[in-house]
Amino acid sequence: MLQGWRSPDRGVLFVITGPSGVGKSTLVHKAREQLPDLRFSVSATTRSPRPGERDGVDYYFLSAEAFETKVGQGAFLEHAKVYDHAYGTLRETVESSLRAGQSVLLDIDVVGSRQVRASGLPAVHIMILPPDLDTLERRLRERGTDDEQVVRRRMSQVETQLRAVGEFDYVVVNDNLSTAHRCFQAVLLAAMCRREVRSSLVNQVHTQLDAGQRH
Ligand code: ADP
Ligand code: 5GP
Repeated sequence: MLQGWRSPDRGVLFVITGPSGVGKSTLVHKAREQLPDLRFSVSATTRSPRPGERDGVDYYFLSAEAFETKVGQGAFLEHAKVYDHAYGTLRETVESSLRAGQSVLLDIDVVGSRQVRASGLPAVHIMILPPDLDTLERRLRERGTDDEQVVRRRMSQVETQLRAVGEFDYVVVNDNLSTAHRCFQAVLLAAMCRREVRSSLVNQVHTQLDAGQRH
């Protein structure tokens, strides 16, 4: 009997990117409901919490000074200014989860995704695309979390994010939510079944064959 086949030997790092309002949080939330072993990396940010957002759950909400102190300490795996605020991924939480065999999801922008690639840390980079720009803008408005100026500012950055599409390993179009969710989940599961992160299973198969076991 093969042991521990459900989880990889080392965690897989997933980088999820896409324009604001495309549905990254929605897809990540749904994926985590079905794959409870996946860890979500809670980023630090200098932006203010939206209604309902909780410190330490959605983000660590920091002052600009506290954020800069962490930059100086080298605490971030990557960090970037996105739509006028600073955002960063805390290195230690990501690396300790991966070491413990837990896969981790980062919801970060294109600049951050490039920094992760440059860091040499193996990661699966997934871009979420909107079906079209009008739909994207409508979702951003209907989310109701941002005022008109913020919506415009976010829409002005869409092209920069989308132009980077060729840098990604996987692209998922979030048109119909349940179809997009199935594609997204398929990518996550496939990456966690790659032989490169399953060496203990490979070893078990060899050991059992060498021992002549039939079960
Ligand atoms: P992001 O995290 O990329 O900024 P959200 O996950 O907050 O985006 O989604 C933006 C808005 O669009 C939310 O109100 C969400 O409920 C809605 N939404 C997400 N995916 C879909 C979809 N496939 N169809 C319709 N609405 C969606
Ligand atoms: P929001 O303010 O809507 O939560 O996030 C705005 C943008 O910042 C999103 O595109 C999100 O992916 C990005 N973002 C969130 N956390 C991080 C982070 O830690 N690093 C980087 N580079 N981008 C982030």
